[in-house]
Amino acid sequence: MTQQSLTHFHHSGAEFLTRETKGLYEPHGSKALAAASEKSAHGNLNVCWSIEDWPKWRQLAHDVKAYTVAHLDLLLDRFVRNLEAKGVTVYWAKDAEEANRIVLDIAKKHEVKTVVKGKSMVSEEMELNHFLASHGITALETDLGEYIVQLARQRPTHIVTPALHLSAAEIGHLFEEKLGEKFTDVHEELTRIARKRLREKFITADMGISGINFGIADTGSFCLVENEGNIGLSTSAPPVHVALMGIEKLIPKLEYLPLFLNMLPRMGTGQKLTSYTHLFNGPTQGRKMYVILMDNGRTGILQQPEYRTMLHCIRCGLCLNHCPVYRQVGGWAYGWVYPGPMGTILTSNLVGIEKASSLPFASSLCGACSEICPVKVDLAHMLVRLRKKAIDKGTKARTLLDRMIWKSYAMAMQGNFRFKSLMFAIKTGMRIIKFLPWHPDKLGQWTRGRALPKIPQEPAFRDWWEKNRKNQKKNES
Ligand code: SF4
Repeated sequence: MTQQSLTHFHHSGAEFLTRETKGLYEPHGSKALAAASEKSAHGNLNVCWSIEDWPKWRQLAHDVKAYTVAHLDLLLDRFVRNLEAKGVTVYWAKDAEEANRIVLDIAKKHEVKTVVKGKSMVSEEMELNHFLASHGITALETDLGEYIVQLARQRPTHIVTPALHLSAAEIGHLFEEKLGEKFTDVHEELTRIARKRLREKFITADMGISGINFGIADTGSFCLVENEGNIGLSTSAPPVHVALMGIEKLIPKLEYLPLFLNMLPRMGTGQKLTSYTHLFNGPTQGRKMYVILMDNGRTGILQQPEYRTMLHCIRCGLCLNHCPVYRQVGGWAYGWVYPGPMGTILTSNLVGIEKASSLPFASSLCGACSEICPVKVDLAHMLVRLRKKAIDKGTKARTLLDRMIWKSYAMAMQGNFRFKSLMFAIKTGMRIIKFLPWHPDKLGQWTRGRALPKIPQEPAFRDWWEKNRKNQKKNES
């Protein structure tokens, strides 16, 4: 799998499990991914529910983000003024292309040849590494998971744990092949190898690039959380620090930060707090600090009240871990940067429903994502609305066969006789299938992983009810 092939999907859209993205899905990875998501989902929720007032925390976090989004223009203006007062140079980027150009200009100005990067989903949106490489600048990921997927020339499969799909043994083989290290599948040893390799890069890099977890409007500070210490080194060792932020990653006041610092790690990694919390208050002496605020479609979401709560998202990743579809297919199947339920809403709005029309249908609509989201993003209802939007726009989200099935279903549901006839046809069909010379597995994807339901021997409730009612009437008369 080459970096070019991965890049291709960014520009051509984000359809679910296309012929191309199927190639990005590792069949042997699904079991590891499903198990890891399951473990993470339950572990994270246990840490959350150990807090007595958790529902109140959620409501408060929702209210703070709702206020932020409702006053985004004013708060961003305040944030920028306060940043500049601290000596930070701020840029606005309307899209990924402009953000890339700004980073390149800064890099040229400071004669940058090598960059160390902390984890940043905004930089993934920009495909920054690829862009910098095309201009002769090497950008090295320093988050362990990101480092591993960069080494494997893959894309992250999860927004919090990018290498979730890889086992320790697979990483051991990767280090053996790419770094010439002796094979090991011991976690501590693998970490030691990465640490040794990365340490010298921090010291020699010309520029550090990071994301921003929370921008704080009333102080002009910004906060980054991490567990490995790599962000601390990426942002303090090189003489230049560029921080990339989506315009929605803001909170109004410093006093709300502890709330979110408690929530994000609990939901993201099942920790009460991350190992490191960095609060940046302008550049230290002799160093340069830049903040790039990127829109890239976010104001488009802001203009649509029915999708606006998506801007509350703090990127904890928990809705991915709880999504039965994500657990089966992993992150690459979604074709763009953000996977899972949150990814579907963001991607469809950021790249346009025309380019992502199948994503809203990659959901069981079980509603687990809405139930667990710490900031109460109403993901499930937005998924339904996006389905309608995809169909209204006349996209190819539904095949002719799909449309025929749903039209027939709608017709059948319009009257008692029609409904009974359909049920009769289904029952008869299922009885006939048993005697066919080929196995029902031949029905394709639908039956490959599951058995057909057994035909109930007992009459359906409807029949039972009618019979009972007749008997009751008979007895009454
Ligand atoms: S939508 Fe909610 S659960 Fe999903 S990543 Fe965002 S904050 Fe977390």
